Amino acid sequence: MDFGIKGKHALICGASKGIGRAIAKELAGEGVKLFLCARTEQVLSETAEAIRKDCPSAEIFYQACDLSSLEDRQKLISSVNDQLGSVDILVHNTGGPKTSRAEDTKLEDWDSGFKQLFLSVADINNAFLCQMKERKWGRIICVTSLSIMEPIASLSVSNAVRSAVTAMLKTLSDEVAPFNITVNCIAPGSIETDRMQDLMEQRTKASGQSKEEYQKQYVSAIPAGRMGTPEEFAAVAAFLCSTRASYVTGSTICVDGGKRRSTY
Ligand code: NAD
Repeated sequence: MDFGIKGKHALICGASKGIGRAIAKELAGEGVKLFLCARTEQVLSETAEAIRKDCPSAEIFYQACDLSSLEDRQKLISSVNDQLGSVDILVHNTGGPKTSRAEDTKLEDWDSGFKQLFLSVADINNAFLCQMKERKWGRIICVTSLSIMEPIASLSVSNAVRSAVTAMLKTLSDEVAPFNITVNCIAPGSIETDRMQDLMEQRTKASGQSKEEYQKQYVSAIPAGRMGTPEEFAAVAAFLCSTRASYVTGSTICVDGGKRRSTY
């Protein structure tokens, strides 16, 4: 299937590892020119090198940026404008926030979660929406979590702030739909990445079970009987970025092997 996005320009946030990196690789394969950001320049350089290995014609720029820092975001936006010139596809993604029960979450943790997961999305959208509206084409996707539908124990900041960002993006999707700009969220269930491994270690410890016992019990709650791969997630993201997905907007798509329990 031709996704029709060859030659488009994409800014991919949180692109050095896991889900973000897999999306970058998938879009490079579609002939999209990439600008990657994450916190560490060295890891970004290795990521760009790995993508070029699989996709030698890929054009890739990158810059270190802590997405929760206003100053870093301003530098990022300026470099993207200088080097890419324009952005057609925006992929919002970053690291997971601190884990804690709601009653134990400190004010500074709510604040840093909001800066990282919400303000980064709003700020970067503001920077590139004007161009998308002028060109009457754009794709915005945001990696969220199943936690927006079913609160996950001890992930209070994720549960709350990702719900807020989903509501903000749903509102935005109404406003920009007449400009041929789609805005969608993709909610991972359990995708095998470093973040998931960290969470599994914390949960195994808390359960008092062995790693094998806990993992067996955990995947038994997923109808597919296993975790997903970053590549399976990235394939859905690439479709939503494509011209083929022009009538999908304001939606949250779960990539979760059937884990979500609600019907809708
Ligand atoms: P990951 O930790 O493997 O990768 C996160 C990426 O974001 C990395 O490139 C990291 O360098 C970058 N990053 C982290 N903090 C940043 C910051 N402040 N500024 C810029 N870049 C930053 O995570 P992942 O598993 O690929 O997940 C991606 C997102 O999806 C996370 O927010 C995670 O919480 C969420 N999520 C993942 C799963 C899953 O199953 N993996 C499930 C639900 C939600």
